[in-house]
Amino acid sequence: MPGGVNSPVRAFRGVGGTPLFIRSAAGPTITDVAGRTYIDYVGSWGPMILGHADAEILAALAAVAASGTSFGAPNELEVELAEEIVAAVPSIEMVRMVNSGTEATMSAIRLARGVTGRDKLVKFAGCYHGHADSLLVKAGSGVATLGLPDSPGVPASLAQHTLTVPFNDPAALAEVFAEHPDIAAVIIEPVVGNMGCVPPQAGFLEFVRELTAKHGALLIFDEVMTGFRVARGGAQERYRISPDITCLGKIIGGGLPVGAYGGSRDLMRNIAPTGPIYQAGTLSGNPLAMTAGLVTLRRLKDRSVYETLEQRSALLCEGLARAAEAAGIKTITNRVGSMWTSFFTDVPVTNWETANLSNRELYGKFFHAMLAEGVYLAPSQFEAGFVSITHTVAIIDKTIEAARRAFNALA
Ligand SMILES: *Cc1c(COP(=O)(O)O)cnc(C)c1O
Repeated sequence: MPGGVNSPVRAFRGVGGTPLFIRSAAGPTITDVAGRTYIDYVGSWGPMILGHADAEILAALAAVAASGTSFGAPNELEVELAEEIVAAVPSIEMVRMVNSGTEATMSAIRLARGVTGRDKLVKFAGCYHGHADSLLVKAGSGVATLGLPDSPGVPASLAQHTLTVPFNDPAALAEVFAEHPDIAAVIIEPVVGNMGCVPPQAGFLEFVRELTAKHGALLIFDEVMTGFRVARGGAQERYRISPDITCLGKIIGGGLPVGAYGGSRDLMRNIAPTGPIYQAGTLSGNPLAMTAGLVTLRRLKDRSVYETLEQRSALLCEGLARAAEAAGIKTITNRVGSMWTSFFTDVPVTNWETANLSNRELYGKFFHAMLAEGVYLAPSQFEAGFVSITHTVAIIDKTIEAARRAFNALA
């Protein structure tokens, strides 16, 4: 396997050293092949909000698997999961299941282009929306210049349809709309997780919503990470913004491969077979993935889950910030609900430019010091950490104690 991994960030290039090979996981912990157990704040990059190897999910999966793992034909479980999503996510009336977040965003963009008859797409620097060609694009030299491929293999002729602007920068977005009349959609992580956790500033999402509506462009909320994470109804519930299309993934699959995209009935009816915009999937809606998702979403109906996650995550982040300060290490900790990042910088982190000021070398040292303490953080400064309902106060206290020693070792 290239780099020994099936997804690049796992290779530890962001922190140096050799990745752990994980043999098993339970609740808030993961155990490597050497038998060492770590408190886990990666949570498979977001899905494991109930913790690892949840007993109810495992039992449900075993029962369902005995009846067959994929039919390639409609089944009741996919309808049940669709109903849970429609009931929970304010802007979704109709939804299509896919198998990953990447598929969800790729399909959402095709839908937006198909219905608007426009090609251009606006994204924000530092936001990640999966690895589809249109989304692996970096900013050109000016604010409103055409995009450049961010990876060999992405045709320049395709990248030029993607415009990239800074997050939390209303003026830059307005400028792009002033210069380009042919924008199909703006895609955004409403709370960014993929440059580390970066919340939207007051009024920013409202501005994006108003501007896109004014110009007849669709607003795509990529809630693959934030959906059922920052609130049951995702960031759109938390910030009360109604996007045109929402992309989901991670938590709605309960640890199995799933994605979904949805919106109003009128919009979604443009997808095949009711409409002309093509999108399909051999394993889409398979009973295993639907079951893990269903158990997860039903457990998350208990609103106290989100209160508990909020309290525990606040406890963790306050503890980490205090531990850093006591050791004289400068950090900025951003958090929304149970997603958070401690940036090794003293400049408030509001976009990619400021996130990028973080001291990656120091983060790498901190990461390894925490690993030695038995705490597994994201192997990159530019990723969010996640708290699950199995991260008890005792586990969090243990983490803060470990961080105190790790920060002191750095200082
Ligand atoms: C994880 C993620 C994706 C990609 O999902 P995959 O299942 O890895 O393809 C897209 N958008 C956001 C915001 C994500 O966090």
